[in-house]
This record gives sequence, structure tokens and C-alpha cells, in this order.
Amino acid sequence: MPILNRAAELQDEVTEWRRHIHARPELLFAVENTAAFVAAKLKEFGADEVVTGIGRTGVVGIIRGNGSSSRAIGLRADMDALPLTEITGKPWASTTPGKMHACGHDGHTAMLLGAAKYLAETRNFNGSVAVIFQPAEEGGGGGNLMVKDGMMERFGIEEVYGMHNLPGLPVGKFAIRTGAIMAATDEFTITVRGRGGHAAMPHTTIDPIAIGAQIVSNLQLISSRTVDPLRSVVVSITKFNAGFAHNVIPNEAALAGTVRTLDSAVRDLAEDRLKQVVQGLVAAHGATADIGFHRNYPVTYNHPAETGHAVAVATDIVGSQNVDANADPLMGGEDFSYMLNARPGAFIFIGNGDTAGLHSPSYDFNDEAIAHGISYWVRLAEQRLAD
Ligand SMILES: [Zn+2]
Ligand SMILES: [Zn+2]
Repeated sequence: MPILNRAAELQDEVTEWRRHIHARPELLFAVENTAAFVAAKLKEFGADEVVTGIGRTGVVGIIRGNGSSSRAIGLRADMDALPLTEITGKPWASTTPGKMHACGHDGHTAMLLGAAKYLAETRNFNGSVAVIFQPAEEGGGGGNLMVKDGMMERFGIEEVYGMHNLPGLPVGKFAIRTGAIMAATDEFTITVRGRGGHAAMPHTTIDPIAIGAQIVSNLQLISSRTVDPLRSVVVSITKFNAGFAHNVIPNEAALAGTVRTLDSAVRDLAEDRLKQVVQGLVAAHGATADIGFHRNYPVTYNHPAETGHAVAVATDIVGSQNVDANADPLMGGEDFSYMLNARPGAFIFIGNGDTAGLHSPSYDFNDEAIAHGISYWVRLAEQRLAD
């Protein structure tokens, strides 16, 4: 079964929706216009229920199949854009400086709408499909909020599936793996408190910049000397702010960064070690430190059986030679992780071809991928809800 004929027929219409959304990017939870567009389309297609305001601005459409089964599966897309200014110069480029669909959520939303249109037309399944459109994937935890709002229980969702485009993976290919596919992304801030003074008399000061520099280099030992080399951890210091004059040693230095891991034991170990290293270093040099550690998105964990279903469906559409079922995980974070913690399911990458990378001002979703994405959603729903 290659790309579904009807999905190919929908290509032009869905491309139009995709470009409409692309030109009107909205951030985090403030996706009101995108959510209204989605809800209007779902009603137009004849969805049995369209519920807005889940997880503040999330939308869920329910499409019931032919048959009396009470089973339901969830298919999820994200709707939010990023705070960056687009430089593609394309006719459908963002009309709002400082906002841009640079992660392809416009494409995810349009493809899931295309699948909803198809499923509402054909209803060739027994049970219900919940099409889930979430806000605030890019840092706000909108998916987590939808789960907390009781979405899974309310619609009886038993399995949940997600999809993300991947630049560099050719169009017409899929990539997935069982287990961790994206990282937990934790954030920390460190304030080193020393004692400022004259740059010519450093012995009368406690220099927070010299100590901060030790922290930067010593935290790299977490990956090289604390964590098992066969496991993954990334510690990146991304901010280091201190000082205001050439001849003054300041009182304080402020550092911040991120820790990314693929399993919870390594996650715990990295957090503990970071705190020990910082406290030990500042104590050794007579300073003190305040450490803030914020656990952000958890690991995106693909459940084995559901990953098997996803591989089977992708293989059905593009052939086994175009499905990498043992892809490397990415060290980025993904808010779909909360849905996968609530229900079994799987998150798959769909090829976006040779485009600029995600979060680049030159990025654009590749409309050539649309028919593949719609076909995957439709076949997945029909197979998981077969009689
Ligand atoms: Zn993103
Ligand atoms: Zn994204």
C-alpha cells in the first residue's frame, strides 16, 4: 500500500492550509487564531465532537468510525511557532516579524487536519479517533496541560501517537526507535557569590569569575568522568554574565545552562553531580553559590508494541527500505513526552528533505511530505481500530 490516492488528492488543499498557518505564526499558548482555524475545519469536515480550550488553547476533534467499539486512539499535532524572524523570503513567509513557524508545527497541524478530513469522509474503522492539536510545545508544556485537563480519560484514549518532521531525512522516509527517542531537558542557573574589589589586589577579593570559569570546565567532567560512556548526557553552559569594568573584580557571576539525558537514572545522577561539583568548587575557594535546577520536559519514550505498529504502518506506505526502525535518538526535548507518560504510544520522524534545520530562520516545512504524513495517520488509525 503506497501513499493513499485520496491523500495525494488532498495535497493541494492541505498545502494551502499549511501556508495559511505558516504566514500567521502564534507563540506558546497564544495560538487563538490557529486553534480557531483548526476547530472550524474540524466542524466543516463533520467531526462528531470538537472541543476547544483543553490545556488553555488546545483543540480535540473526535471522529467516530463505522461500528460500535468504544476503543479510541489519539493522534497529536502541535500548533505553536517560535520567537524568531523568518528570512526565507517565500510568498507564504511569516507576516509577523519576531514570530515564525521554524519547527514545522504548521505542517504537523495541516497534515493532521488532512487526515481528519479523510477519516471523517471514510470512517473505515471501528472506534474513535481523537485528533489532538496542542499549544505551547516550544517551552510552555501545553501537552502536559492537556493531559492534566483530563483529555485521556474524557475521550477514553488508549494509545497516543505523535509525528515530527526531520530536516536531513529524505522526503518519503520515516525514522523511529523503541525506547528513548528524545531527551529530558533540564535547566539550571548558578549564582556564584564572591567578594569584589580592585583588579590590582586580587588577594583581597574572592573572584567569582575565576571560580565560575572552574565551574564551566569542571561540569564537563560529568559527561567524561561521571556517567557511563555508553550512556548519554549533554551539559552545556549557555550563559556566563559577570563584571562591568576593566579594573573591578565583581561580587557575583551568573551562569546558566541545560542538562540533557535519555534515562531517569542518568538524569538523577547528573543533577546530583552538578550540585556537588558547584558547591565543592565554591567552598574550596571561599565563595558560596545558589543553584536553581528546573526539571523541564521528560524523556520521550516510545513504547515497544506501539512502536512496532508505527513501523508496520510506515513500512506499508513507503516500504521497509525507507523506514529506519532503529534511528539514533535526538538530544532535543519534546512535550509529547507527557502524553507518552500518560498512555502507551510512539513518536515518529518524517523526512523533510534537504532543508535548513529546525529553529533556523531559513527553515521551511516541506510540502512534499504532506501526502506521506496524511497516509501515515490514516493507515495508523485504520489499523489500530480495525474490526
Ligand atoms: Zn521546536
Ligand atoms: Zn517541534
